[in-house]
Amino acid sequence: MSNDIMIHGMLCDRALRFAAIDGTELVRTAQKTHRLSRVATAALGRQLMMTSVVATLCKNDTDTVTTVLAGSGPSGNLVCVGRHGGLVKGYATNPWIELPLRADGKLDVSGYVGTTGKLTLIRDLGLKEPYVGMCNLVSGEIAEDFAQYFTASEQQPSIVYLGVHENAADGFVTGAGGLLIQTMPNCPDEAIDRVLRITDRIPMLGMRLADGETLEAIVKDLFSDLDAEYTDRMAPAFLCDCTQERLERALFSIGKQDLTEIIEQDGHAELTCQFCGKTYHFDRPALEALLIEANDNGGNDEG
Ligand SMILES: [Zn+2]
Repeated sequence: MSNDIMIHGMLCDRALRFAAIDGTELVRTAQKTHRLSRVATAALGRQLMMTSVVATLCKNDTDTVTTVLAGSGPSGNLVCVGRHGGLVKGYATNPWIELPLRADGKLDVSGYVGTTGKLTLIRDLGLKEPYVGMCNLVSGEIAEDFAQYFTASEQQPSIVYLGVHENAADGFVTGAGGLLIQTMPNCPDEAIDRVLRITDRIPMLGMRLADGETLEAIVKDLFSDLDAEYTDRMAPAFLCDCTQERLERALFSIGKQDLTEIIEQDGHAELTCQFCGKTYHFDRPALEALLIEANDNGGNDEG
């Protein structure tokens, strides 16, 4: 039974908004699904939680948010997709790479992700073209990179905290949490000053979750002097939404020539969803039906 929760609210007479997440179970599920190394658990876990948070701030139920971290480190790309209610899925190109702990005993997330590269955020709001924003990585520690993205690319000054705590011995996730605070339009400087006074206490959030405190109690304590209003709560989760039909479309998109080759050489195809590892089987009649459809449509032969 998951205790994961997300809490939305406003601070300082609605001058700022916040979204806080306890994503402990969500990160555990990602770790198990992809057999993530300890450092990959921390990196993908942080990104999954922020992607989940951003997706809940979309207006419509059908909007989705995709985040891609493409850094210079050994992780390869880290890709997450968030949707309504905080449901999120994601994967890392190289999920098994482990790195030694840093000198201060912490997981070397920036060593895994890389300190240079790009963070891309794609908002699919159901319009003809998705909205794509991008910024350079500032540290590869992910929270700072998202803060930079919101501030520079979306002109939304933001405080971002993300933390994943794991047992040193076996990598078991003891607590994972995140917090996003953003200014609303015409936010007075005085309100920003009030929020900045609590920033040194925010990094305790993940550890406090690991110690067994509830997110609700931590948030109430953290914001006790900030006139907090609580507007919404939801149950985030790591959950893939792949289907046979969706994978079939992926297969269709490879083009007539490749489809013909698969039919002639193998007579069947297996496709694995990279977000959750589930395998879908396509037999010869299914592949032949796709080929007929491709021929009818004039298809594309580019492959
Ligand atoms: Zn899937």
